[in-house]
Amino acid sequence: MLDSPLQQLVCRMGQPVAGNPTQFMMQRAFAAAGLDWLYLTFEVCPENLSDAVRGMRAMEFQGANFTIPHKIAVIEHLDRLSETAALMGAVNCVYREDGQLVGDNTDGQAFVESLRNVTDPAGKKVVLLGAGGAARAIGVELGRAGVAELTIINRTPETGQTLVDLLIDHVHLSARLIPWKGQLAVPDGTDILVNATPIGLLDPDAPVPLDMKSVRPPMVVTDVILNPPDTWLLRQAAQRGCTTLNGLGMLVQQGVIAFRRWTGQDADPIVMREAVEEYLEI
Ligand code: NDP
Repeated sequence: MLDSPLQQLVCRMGQPVAGNPTQFMMQRAFAAAGLDWLYLTFEVCPENLSDAVRGMRAMEFQGANFTIPHKIAVIEHLDRLSETAALMGAVNCVYREDGQLVGDNTDGQAFVESLRNVTDPAGKKVVLLGAGGAARAIGVELGRAGVAELTIINRTPETGQTLVDLLIDHVHLSARLIPWKGQLAVPDGTDILVNATPIGLLDPDAPVPLDMKSVRPPMVVTDVILNPPDTWLLRQAAQRGCTTLNGLGMLVQQGVIAFRRWTGQDADPIVMREAVEEYLEI
């Protein structure tokens, strides 16, 4: 046993990080693949982010996931960014390449992979609620997936306009902003509605301020919230006959992409999905 190889380490850093199934899901995926890897979760406050990344580098972690509030702040501590992360200006997945720490963003790709289970976004008219980190990633990847038109609805118009400009200038997408005031109606002709705000996080009864009469079939309604997976918006949309999609598939797809980046192997998404459902007791 003295010469047995060291266990490989990966981790997740954020604040707060409790209540997220990622560690449980990744450990199950490593075990299913027969890999002796360890995934740890660290509560790291913004003041300690620099030291935490230095520690990760010194201890030769193979990679990490970064979540709220570190997705932008971590960039200055990395060696380089993927083209996607540079465009989005945010990192959620770091991997080691030739001794360097490389920042990538898999939020959008994971969302689109999950969405394809219910509909192909190509040629569709999409409404995206929110313009934060998740929305930026989703907007860029929906553009790459060939959506016909993207409408951003955001509470703070300046933030929304920044995303619209990014999509027009760098993704060459037809995009526009509707400032979010009061009970907004979803525009006629919308094929896909995406909630990329935290409304509903840890509160299954938090209403999304929309005129729900405007949410009707054949609209596909999706939510990035994963805990609870059955948000108020999704329940309302399902009652109205819409096809719905929760945030669990996005979480699993992010794990699948990170697993491949870190280990060079493919993960089993079924094992990961079952782990997430077991963790959330659904
Ligand atoms: P950010 O803080 O970067 O952005 C939040 C966005 O939501 C902003 O546009 C903000 O608007 C808007 N918003 C927040 N509160 C309200 C409100 N009460 N009413 C209207 N708009 C509101 O967060 P992220 O984009 O990083 O994360 C958003 C959600 O996505 C989180 O719940 C996170 O857990 C989830 N997520 C899920 C993933 C998954 O795998 N399923 C992956 C990544 C994220 P404004 O600009 O006005 O502040």
